[in-house]
Formats: sequence, structure tokens, C-alpha cells
Amino acid sequence: MSSKIRDYPGTEVDPKELQAGKFLTTRYETVLRYSWTSGVAISRFLDGLKEGELWATKCDRCGRVLVPPRAYCEEDFAPIDKWVRVKDTGTVNTFSISYVNNDASRRKKPIIVAVIDIDGASPGMGILHIMGGVDPQKVHVGMKVEAVWKPKAERAGAITDITHFRPRV
Ligand SMILES: [Zn+2]
Repeated sequence: MSSKIRDYPGTEVDPKELQAGKFLTTRYETVLRYSWTSGVAISRFLDGLKEGELWATKCDRCGRVLVPPRAYCEEDFAPIDKWVRVKDTGTVNTFSISYVNNDASRRKKPIIVAVIDIDGASPGMGILHIMGGVDPQKVHVGMKVEAVWKPKAERAGAITDITHFRPRV
């Protein structure tokens, strides 16, 4: 572990301590009764992922290439119906090295979360994903990266069709 990384203050809660009632907790069942459409733009984006392609929309007024795609330009309030394919490579815009899981438990091996500016899209247009195949201490803003795709048969039209981004070779 790098000297840059210090232990976080506080004490990790052990699930056994929770079950034993050592801490005040509340439990409830979540009933999820809702579903909604992804919309025109994101639906086409997700269809593209299934094919191993990244699609963006291009605003006719300002010329920006937007990814994830939007059906309206938030700067011009103009509808967009022009589609352009962008690359599955990009540049690390920002990143975070996390030692905490979704359930707030600690990780020994960190997960690297990054915003990737996608090649072919306008500056600052990118997607949030995870990095893999790289020493966390070597990740830096400006690093050139490429998508690692699931095998086609395993893709479901989800952002997880890309398993992670790795340094470009
Ligand atoms: Zn625009």
C-alpha cells in the first residue's frame, strides 16, 4: 500500500455484531413496483452496447457530440436527432480509488471509479465506469484507456456490457 494512502478513522462494523444486536438498526422490505422506459436516446445507446458500439448524439446548433446521448441539447434547448458513432477509447477525466464496498464494508483491494472522456465526443463528454488491469497508483488524469467488452453472447444492452476500462496498449 502506498504511503499516500492512510487508514481511515473509525471502526468497521462486523455483520456478526449487527446480527447480535450490538448496534441500533432498522430493517424493512423494499417493494419495487415501478418500471419506466429508458427513452429514445438511452434506448439506442443501450442497443449499441449490445453490438459493442458507443453511440452519441450531435447537436446541429452548437455541434457538440453528446455521450451518453441526449434527445435535447441542454445548452440550446434544441431537439437532436443526429446520431454519430464514437470510439470505445478515451481519456481519464477524473478518478477515485475506493476501499469501500456498496454495503460500506472495507475492501482490501481497491476499486477504481473513473470518468472517461470518450474519443470522438466533445470535451467533458464521458461516462462513469471502473478501471481494471492497472496498478491503482499508476492511474492518472489524462491516461489513455480502452473499453474491455463482455463476449457478445453475454451482453445485455447495459453499461456493464463493458466490464471495465484499461490502459490503452
Ligand atoms: Zn447544442
